[in-house]
Amino acid sequence: SPAILWFREDFRLADNAALSAAARDGAPVLCITILEPEPQQGAAHDWWRDGAIRALDAALQEKDGRLHVLRGKAEDLVPALAKACNASAVHWNRRYDPTGRAIDTAIKTQLKSTGTEAYSFPGALLHEPWTIRTQADKPFQVFTPFWRTARKLGDPRPPLSAPDTLKFASFPKTDQFHSLTPEEFNLLPTSPDWAAGFRETWEPGEKAAHEHLALFVEDTLRGYSEERDYPAAEACSRLSPYLRFGHVTPAQLWHAVMQADASAQNKDKFLAELGWREFAWSILFEQANVATRSLRPEFDALPWRTDPKGLKAWQSGRTGYPLVDAGMRELWHTGWMHNRIRMVVASFLVKHLLIDWREGERWFADTLVDHDPASNPMNWQWNAGTGVDAAPFFRIMNPILQSEKFDAEGEYIRRWVPELQRVPASMIHAPWAADQEALKACGVVLGRTYPHPIIEHKLARERALSVWKSFRGN
Ligand code: FAD
Repeated sequence: SPAILWFREDFRLADNAALSAAARDGAPVLCITILEPEPQQGAAHDWWRDGAIRALDAALQEKDGRLHVLRGKAEDLVPALAKACNASAVHWNRRYDPTGRAIDTAIKTQLKSTGTEAYSFPGALLHEPWTIRTQADKPFQVFTPFWRTARKLGDPRPPLSAPDTLKFASFPKTDQFHSLTPEEFNLLPTSPDWAAGFRETWEPGEKAAHEHLALFVEDTLRGYSEERDYPAAEACSRLSPYLRFGHVTPAQLWHAVMQADASAQNKDKFLAELGWREFAWSILFEQANVATRSLRPEFDALPWRTDPKGLKAWQSGRTGYPLVDAGMRELWHTGWMHNRIRMVVASFLVKHLLIDWREGERWFADTLVDHDPASNPMNWQWNAGTGVDAAPFFRIMNPILQSEKFDAEGEYIRRWVPELQRVPASMIHAPWAADQEALKACGVVLGRTYPHPIIEHKLARERALSVWKSFRGN
């Protein structure tokens, strides 16, 4: 009897422990994935998921198999499908969020009660979250000791190669459910089609992930630690959506980086970034509500402003601060934003506009192709100062200085804010402070072709600090 292989956010054939185990048993495998109603995913995530499903289906078709797509509650579908095809076992790679874990535990219990085995495997993280704990057996609240402890565990397991041979089971003939066609799973935008920039920028799938990774370790990694903060330099890996959808595993990245011809400093810096991803997951593992509650609960009483116009200006990249606007437009166009700029725009929303970090978290959740339920809220809370091991609230990023420092020539700004195409570096970081006639000669009239700043930096800073002081006084 067949084994069911349930793909979740692990759309790959290599280093897939569940797949290798299913294939090792020699049983025919029925490959499925399920579009579950909860949690609802963002539109950008769905765009990538469509590509991830198609790419994996194509890879399985090359081996004469298929990926079957179902829609519904996994608690209902998996046991029913196991029964319908008389499966001997169901295999999956673990998920680590409390809600997903609860669903998986319930399914496991149900399967076992009907005599179907359920096997789960590690894969999405370098180390299982419960293996990295303080001496008092508590989860870490601070990154540095977390990462020191994780590194003491040594290298993660060596990645598995894709199984050489796979036998496939056919989908059971039943009225209960059917394998959806791409039109039926309907994950792409229709009208308007906002995904043209995504298609230009990305190719989802395992093959593309490994091409990206190869380029990164052969080239970009060598300058990573010095250049990663410069958004125009293309000096980071851009692997985040590939990791998010499990096209590539952190263990594969770890070993590829360790074997690369690059300095220890570059390698350590990159691995530490993977460490932040692990840290974020270790927090979500313990706490389901990281996206809705401040990890430092006293911050939930902060008097955030309700400012729909400000929020809209931020979302659409029309704040009048060129670096902020460039980031928000890069996000809208490509579904991705450079890390340094994510920090700048997050600080701007939370400190300059005093808008609740959850508004920003939600916008990112809808627009990022790499939206990650652990990393996104953790980073928002870090920047807002409401999280564990976070930058303090009173540390307010200056978007003009950030611009001068990290995009000195204005190259990144010009890439994403075409209205400022002809503005030289001397005026581009703060166009309102420039000689307006000179600006006009570059085709820019503030308030007409490009917005005035929606708030003055100094005022915004004073307002944030005064809210912070009175709030602390409570
Ligand atoms: P690289 O610099 O090449 O890093 C390699 C990998 O390390 C990344 O792919 C990512 O998996 C991990 N990583 C790097 N920095 C971080 C970090 N600060 N926190 C957690 N993991 C990290 N990252 C997401 O993957 N999904 C998100 O939803 C997300 N939301 C963010 C929201 C805000 C407000 C901020 C400031 C950061 C957010 N990040 C998020 C972290 C980071 O910006 C991205 O991981 C990074 O920009 C992805 O680009 P890269 O793959 O080139 O990164």
